[in-house]
Amino acid sequence: NTPLHELDPDVAAAVDAELRRQQSTLEMIASENFAPVAVMEAQGSVLTNKYAEGYPGRRYYGGCEHVDVAEQIAIDRIKDLFGAEYANVQPHSGASANQAALFAIAQPGDTILGLDLAHGGHLTHGMRLNFSGKQFNVVAYHVDDAGLVDMAEVERLAKEHRPKVIIAGWSAYPRQLDFAEFRRIADEVEAYLWVDMAHFAGLVAAGLHPNPVAYADVVTSTTHKTLGGPRGGIILAKKEFAKKLNSSVFPGFQGGPLEHVIAAKAVSFKVAASEEFKERQQRTLDGARILAERLVRDDVTAHGVSVLSGGTDVHLVLVDLRDSELDGQQAEDRLHEVGITVNRNAVPNDPRPPMVTSGLRIGTPALATRGFDAGDFTEVADIIAETLKPGFDEAKAEALKARVTALADKHPLYPGLK
Ligand code: PLP
Repeated sequence: NTPLHELDPDVAAAVDAELRRQQSTLEMIASENFAPVAVMEAQGSVLTNKYAEGYPGRRYYGGCEHVDVAEQIAIDRIKDLFGAEYANVQPHSGASANQAALFAIAQPGDTILGLDLAHGGHLTHGMRLNFSGKQFNVVAYHVDDAGLVDMAEVERLAKEHRPKVIIAGWSAYPRQLDFAEFRRIADEVEAYLWVDMAHFAGLVAAGLHPNPVAYADVVTSTTHKTLGGPRGGIILAKKEFAKKLNSSVFPGFQGGPLEHVIAAKAVSFKVAASEEFKERQQRTLDGARILAERLVRDDVTAHGVSVLSGGTDVHLVLVDLRDSELDGQQAEDRLHEVGITVNRNAVPNDPRPPMVTSGLRIGTPALATRGFDAGDFTEVADIIAETLKPGFDEAKAEALKARVTALADKHPLYPGLK
């Protein structure tokens, strides 16, 4: 029963330092969030000790009566939350969920049609070095000059290549997808429609984004981005896919499920059904809109900074630095220096190399969870704009950092944790 600080001071120090980093800086990585203490409590519980291969009521191990309860609660809650006929809460991560989902509805060698990684897609949607790109015949669609998914191209490519699966979903895209149109195209070429809502699932749960569940054959998601839960994945689907999906997850790709994470998922799904969560997602959206609006003002765009697609309908903004002297790496480093964490991101047709890029992806979910309101997001947006302007020197960095600290102090994170 030796506590972590005594048993392993080295690891404890890294954990403590990470808590302090999260508390003292502004987290604006669009795929990150802060899980509630209750979620972390479930995740750090004795359920980590339990083997439970199989599914509730049908396990290959004894002693599963309590983890069965937790897993069934998670399944029931997520089905309710999204109106799904079927749910699997066992995928260890978003990528695991995607792998299991894809292999359940397609065979290696089949053609899949997904959004190009360089245009905002995810690795698991057909990137060359990923299982999806190595084992499937990948055709990619793109965004148009306005930065919007080119549905005419989707239709043209679908008719030309007749994919087995069409993938709708993204990791870096600031607008909503037209699920009805994807469904129409999928029906026309007799393809399955798989929606990966990893990024926007929290917005869907709050009723602030169209729900893909009614349109798609299979929907996957992570549980740790806008959804605000523990790190993990889920699969939702129509009932007819239940058997195939269950066996694809286990025994297809996974062994024992992480029941401690599944219990934590269940807690986060309860939170996601609450009014407080809805209000938080609204602040998330408001924050992103404010950020976009303040980054397209003349005094900012004059320095070659702009926003892809001109704004946002979701929880993130894609900053376009193609006309700026500052590249993605430099901009990320500068923001880091003042205490704002973002990630550089390639923009479509990026002239700079992938490790440098000409863009930033900036998201608001974590700060909304921290309690930021419209006024706070306005201040954050102005700090970011000032940081990206020319004339950034040590004195300016110090002044901006003080403004970041004031915001962090105004909204204490995990005040009970030390
Ligand atoms: N799908 C999308 C759209 C994502 O953006 C991500 C993560 O960035 C994933 C799947 C993968 O999730 P994980 O990192 O949990 O494997």
